[in-house]
Amino acid sequence: MSTVVENKPALAPEVTAFLNKAVQKAFVGGRWVEAADGATFDVLDPGTGQKIATVASLKKADVDKAVDIAVDAFHNSGWAKMPVNERSAVLHRIADAVEKRIHIFAQIESLDCGKVYGQAVGDIQNFIDTFRYFADLSQSVNYRNVIAVKHHEAWVARHPWGACGFIIPWNFPFLLAGWGLAPALAAGNTCVLKPAEDTPLSSLYLCHMLQELELLPAGVLNVVTGLGSEAGAAVSQNPKFRRMSFTGSPEVGRMVAEACGRNLVPVKCELGGKGAAVVFNDVDIAETAEKLVQAITFHTGQVCCDATRWLIQKDIYSDFVDECITRMKSVQVGYPMDEGTQMGPVVSAKQKARVLSYLQKGVAGGADLILEGGEAKVPGKNGFYVKPALLAGSLDNIAAREEIFGPVAYLAPFSSEEEGIRLANDTEYGLGNSVWSRDLARCARVAESFESGNGWINAHNVIVHGVPYAGVGKSGMGGGVVSPDTLNDYLRPISVVRPL
Ligand code: NAP
Ligand code: MG
Repeated sequence: MSTVVENKPALAPEVTAFLNKAVQKAFVGGRWVEAADGATFDVLDPGTGQKIATVASLKKADVDKAVDIAVDAFHNSGWAKMPVNERSAVLHRIADAVEKRIHIFAQIESLDCGKVYGQAVGDIQNFIDTFRYFADLSQSVNYRNVIAVKHHEAWVARHPWGACGFIIPWNFPFLLAGWGLAPALAAGNTCVLKPAEDTPLSSLYLCHMLQELELLPAGVLNVVTGLGSEAGAAVSQNPKFRRMSFTGSPEVGRMVAEACGRNLVPVKCELGGKGAAVVFNDVDIAETAEKLVQAITFHTGQVCCDATRWLIQKDIYSDFVDECITRMKSVQVGYPMDEGTQMGPVVSAKQKARVLSYLQKGVAGGADLILEGGEAKVPGKNGFYVKPALLAGSLDNIAAREEIFGPVAYLAPFSSEEEGIRLANDTEYGLGNSVWSRDLARCARVAESFESGNGWINAHNVIVHGVPYAGVGKSGMGGGVVSPDTLNDYLRPISVVRPL
């Protein structure tokens, strides 16, 4: 692993020590374990294309053992029965400990998924905020609702479900681990987390921290590293889970939901998107163009709810396009931990090929490539870099309909409010759309007309703890995240009735 140390003299000593481990093992039952067959896979730094870790590649039998351990910890570790205020205090301690190490976690996240360092810090802060949010919320939930019914004494009690499974993607590894784990743990459940193969390191470092500080009983949080088709499939197929949460693509989401359906395990899916921004002619053109350019280049466009279809009212269309081209051209592509970098690489060679192929397919289908994009070169770094790109034309084009997951936006004009809404909703996805106008009454009307889980006004990608975040259609099913509803999802209601 010496390459890592040479390349990043500024790395924290804790990060160097962590990356210098010969094999990053999975964390099961409070111990570090290898796959029974000894298999491993490599993890790369997307900014250099170089290997930074060798990680245990768990198979079905290894995963099933981890689930058994999580079930046992649910019944026997004391976590599920711990008084709510004590459990809440543990979650706060975890948040405090991560906060103390925020730069360690951010360096690991930046290296592992190619995230611009400052954005990685933001993700770790979000994890901390999520833990604090659910720790506090868990203390004010009503765990026993008395129901007034004739001739009966009745109440609904709420208890944790048991072992819960989590399968998460590579674009926001630590932030999404927080969104999943915090409500489940706050409610008293035990967890098995399968991180993405490209980005397992921050969740493993979390386990390292939890073990060192003895913050959770053994078996309450287990991280099973491995390939999607093996470890991921094994998590989705295990009938001993009481709840499952999947975040990722609609294609894999379908497989996970099918497997859960067979076992009658309740599953929630947070899936992809093809969000629209509907921009009216009364906006400040420069300011709005700047915000949309920031949105599509943030984490190199690998954001599920991003504004990828920019619908612009006809009379400002050409001025707006000019503003966007100028701003997109000036975005500084570079190594994620270098000062001045505004946009880092995409996560993998596969993702780079996907982005470039959509530009080709879009043009082949008749779209205008109004800002060329393509491969970007960063001196001295052989990573997975692409330039931001803009396409325009018919919204029937493949690049306007399918999720690209890169710094590529598709522009089209519209005339009336009604047409803007219709075009925004003309998609199989339904995660986040935004409306841009000085007329706030119109904004409220348009935002509510979106057939999506989220409608944002004069901003995009706005996710706030306390406000439900979920998708409809191909963007998700079965509930959302970061709100009181989410905590409730991890509490099993039991109705108790006594005839009087
Ligand atoms: P993905 O390919 O669906 O992978 C997601 C997770 O599923 C990974 O951990 C993956 O493991 C695992 N997996 C792969 N095959 C599996 C199988 N057969 N059974 C069970 N699990 C399996 O998605 P991705 O490419 O990582 O992430 C991008 C997608 O996530 C986009 O569509 C994006 O919009 C969506 N997303 C949605 C949200 C939201 O909140 N709605 C948030 C973030 C991302 P491996 O990585 O090891 O293959
Ligand atoms: Mg990586």
